[in-house]
Amino acid sequence: MAQDNSMLDGTIASIDAAVGRLGLENGMREVLVEPWREVIVGLPVKMDDGTVRVFKGYRSQHNASRGPYKGGMRYHPNTDLEHVRALGMLMTWKTALADVPFGGAKGGINVDPKELSTHELNMLTRRYTLSMHHVLGVNRDIPAPDLGTSAQTMAWIMDAYGSIHGHTPGIVTGKPIELGGSLGRAEAPGRGAAVVACRAIVDGGSTPEQSTVAIQGYGAVGSSAARTMFDNGAKVIAVSDIRGAITNSAGLDIDELDRTVAGGGSVSDLADGDRLNNDELLELDCDVLIPAAIEDVITTRNASKVRARIIVEGANRPITSAADQILVSENKKIIPDILANAGGVIASYFEWAQNIQVFKWELERVNRELDKLINRAYDITREQAERTGTTMREAAFDVAVGRVAEAIKIRGYVG
Ligand code: NAD
Repeated sequence: MAQDNSMLDGTIASIDAAVGRLGLENGMREVLVEPWREVIVGLPVKMDDGTVRVFKGYRSQHNASRGPYKGGMRYHPNTDLEHVRALGMLMTWKTALADVPFGGAKGGINVDPKELSTHELNMLTRRYTLSMHHVLGVNRDIPAPDLGTSAQTMAWIMDAYGSIHGHTPGIVTGKPIELGGSLGRAEAPGRGAAVVACRAIVDGGSTPEQSTVAIQGYGAVGSSAARTMFDNGAKVIAVSDIRGAITNSAGLDIDELDRTVAGGGSVSDLADGDRLNNDELLELDCDVLIPAAIEDVITTRNASKVRARIIVEGANRPITSAADQILVSENKKIIPDILANAGGVIASYFEWAQNIQVFKWELERVNRELDKLINRAYDITREQAERTGTTMREAAFDVAVGRVAEAIKIRGYVG
């Protein structure tokens, strides 16, 4: 049996396979794989108790052939250069597949944000921004929230960047609405995941109303995916967060879940359901599974126990490459991360465009344009898969890598 490899190795293997299928010329592979710029910074912060701690901050700018670098900021104890490099690569393919005018990047700080006070996080974020501002910019690199960061984090980055460059709302997306954030941005990745989940359900000959859904992770992506699946008529029968999972075969009460989480509780505190652990949630008998928490949750250890027939990657790289092979051999339909959670970067593009034009869109327009772009990305991926006999993941990579390679060629870097 194939072994689970690292997220970076898995991502590079996906690029290599696409390069082979597309027959790209020698040299192009190196330009596609190698990050264009990477920065590591030491971030001293005076903590509330007067001691000084030095954190490590990263930004991996993978590729900007189709537009400025774009990608999230992750605050997590596992954050390191390899991690942000893999995630930055995924952003390049995501923006290309969605056909928004950005490249790909990712950044982060090796920190457990839950251990820091709000004041300490504010100081840490400002220090990061001051250390990185020369490689950021509205036409250079535009961060957004990711695991462990939020609209508040973006507000701190915008403020620190603005103290050097002047008021620049377009420097980050996923900002608070009051500072130029876009309506619908926070819900967009989960909404997009639900839209493509419903497309996959219909392609499989069923309807959302006949379908049951389990979602791992009830943060920005998972909660919005749950809401949109529910609004589309599907039954959300299980959800989880880091503290536990809850299931109810009659369907969970989404309003109650939102209220519980907003009050600082765990989804597993919900009275109307049975408790599970996160492993059990992944193996639940349901039609659609949406892993929307972290990477590497479906591995060779549990892939053959997954019973859902459709898996929608709300999180980035929740399935290892070896687990992907097992699932494909069992005829599971997988909607890959670069398609499934592209709603986030699509709405970020709308936010950036609104900031540049100093013009605000109505929510209805954001959602309409989002649905249009994510459906278009789904259509082109499915057409490519049908035409070439590939999986949706392979097809998505072929479309995205092909677009980036074309931009690199036109710019005159290769060939
Ligand atoms: P978040 O911090 O808002 O929520 C994460 C959720 O996952 C929380 O409910 C948390 O309790 C849960 N969780 C964390 N570790 C877990 C574990 N080990 N087991 C089970 N649950 C766990 O994060 P988010 O923004 O929703 O991001 C989730 C995933 O989606 C990440 O992979 C992120 O890269 C990806 N993503 C986010 C966006 C975005 O705009 N927020 C866009 C695209 C992709």
